[in-house]
Amino acid sequence: MDPDSFKDFAREMTEYITNYLENIRERRVLPTVEPGYMKPLLPSEAPQTPESWKDIMGDIERVIMPGVTHWHSPKFHAYFPTAQSYPAIVADMLSDAIACIGFTWIASPACTELEVIMLDWLGKMLDLPKEFLACSGGKGGGVIQGTASEATLVALLGAKAKKVRQVKEQHPEWTDNEIVGKLVAYGSCQAHSSVERAGLLGGVKFRLLDVDSKYKLRGETLAEAIRKDKEQGLIPFYAVATLGTTCSCAFDRLDEMGVVANRENVWLHVDAAYAGSAFICPEFRYLMKGIELADSFNFNPHKWMLVTFDCSTMWLKDPTYVINAFNVDPLYLKHDMQGSVPDYRHWQIPLGRRFRALKLWFVLRIYGVENLQRFIRNHVSQAHEFEALVQSDSRFEIVAEVILGLICFRLKGSNDINEALLKKINGAGIIHLVPSKINDVYFLRFAICSRFSESKDIQNSWKEIKLRADEIFEEQSV
Ligand code: PLP
Repeated sequence: MDPDSFKDFAREMTEYITNYLENIRERRVLPTVEPGYMKPLLPSEAPQTPESWKDIMGDIERVIMPGVTHWHSPKFHAYFPTAQSYPAIVADMLSDAIACIGFTWIASPACTELEVIMLDWLGKMLDLPKEFLACSGGKGGGVIQGTASEATLVALLGAKAKKVRQVKEQHPEWTDNEIVGKLVAYGSCQAHSSVERAGLLGGVKFRLLDVDSKYKLRGETLAEAIRKDKEQGLIPFYAVATLGTTCSCAFDRLDEMGVVANRENVWLHVDAAYAGSAFICPEFRYLMKGIELADSFNFNPHKWMLVTFDCSTMWLKDPTYVINAFNVDPLYLKHDMQGSVPDYRHWQIPLGRRFRALKLWFVLRIYGVENLQRFIRNHVSQAHEFEALVQSDSRFEIVAEVILGLICFRLKGSNDINEALLKKINGAGIIHLVPSKINDVYFLRFAICSRFSESKDIQNSWKEIKLRADEIFEEQSV
């Protein structure tokens, strides 16, 4: 492609993207296609001769859009949000143009240095304890992982390496395998599936502990589990506190868990994948009380802070254990500056990494902290607006405390009636929700997701839910 065609293509694409996003509300949020819909729309082989970019533009509406679920529609209330904004899109263009692989400092110094500075900016925005920040001059610092799942696994592997080393000092006669066989990690039964998976990938036992009536993991539950495991000769080494669980946005008691973990010499990791963005607002920081007791902390700006996927920020008080856990040092990756700056390849699982700090930089500068705070507060206030609508209809009940942008609700009655309601809602395809279940109680999750979401969207989504509930009750009375 010659440079002029690139400019024309990019200009046309920018026009298309803007129209798509600014009019996204008009599209049906859920596609109606059947599995395999795309096959008849595309040739069975790649073209032998070049095609025009104009043909590709024409195919977006014909081939792609019919099969797109519109995550940025204000009618999309499923899962948790995934973020998106114009500055992040432009930053990704630049990242794709530079197209460096910043595995070491020398592999592209700007890639590493902007990441270190952005993680300090962001850490300060959250008011993280200074031990997590590179600018404090201590051991601590931050890194951008691809996902929260990777952060949980990286922390677990760091904790495992640390504990194996500590135990070896006391019992030099024990083999690594003997020690690893005794290691045990903990999280809440409400933790994201990636937490349990980290245990499987890390080859260690992982206990999912019971929560209290507000779905929080308490310090005493962790203490009791550790006590029992130690009695059995096992070695507790890692615990995950979830701030903002996926099912109901509950907050584990980090302050209580922290005291226990510190006392027991257990690495405490905080998974705040969704909720962490809210901590840029001082009024929500009470939800991370006890953060000074944690060893590592992670949240996803790519969920709720207008930075496109993937950008999962992680801070470690002492990255040494993670760095040493994965350290292999072939000659072709060595450089003269080693040791004076982070080589992020040691902080993560893959070797390759994109220039992701650019999108944080662009978003933080174009919005400013004030507008990012306004964005979060606006979503939380829309969540409370929806909560009030649910409470105004005596057929419904709220299932969990509404703290941020997620409302868990259900029709009073059986699981079956709620399953039927959700089927109707998603079948109509006007809005999109997903369910969850705690203690065998099935409920619907309504997340405020879109950056385009306004009060009128909340009102319209509620009207749609009420309409489908009316249909259920009418069908039942026939
Ligand atoms: N942790 C929590 C609390 C989540 O809600 C999610 C996803 O929604 C994850 C972890 C996994 O996030 P990721 O896709 O970034 O691995």
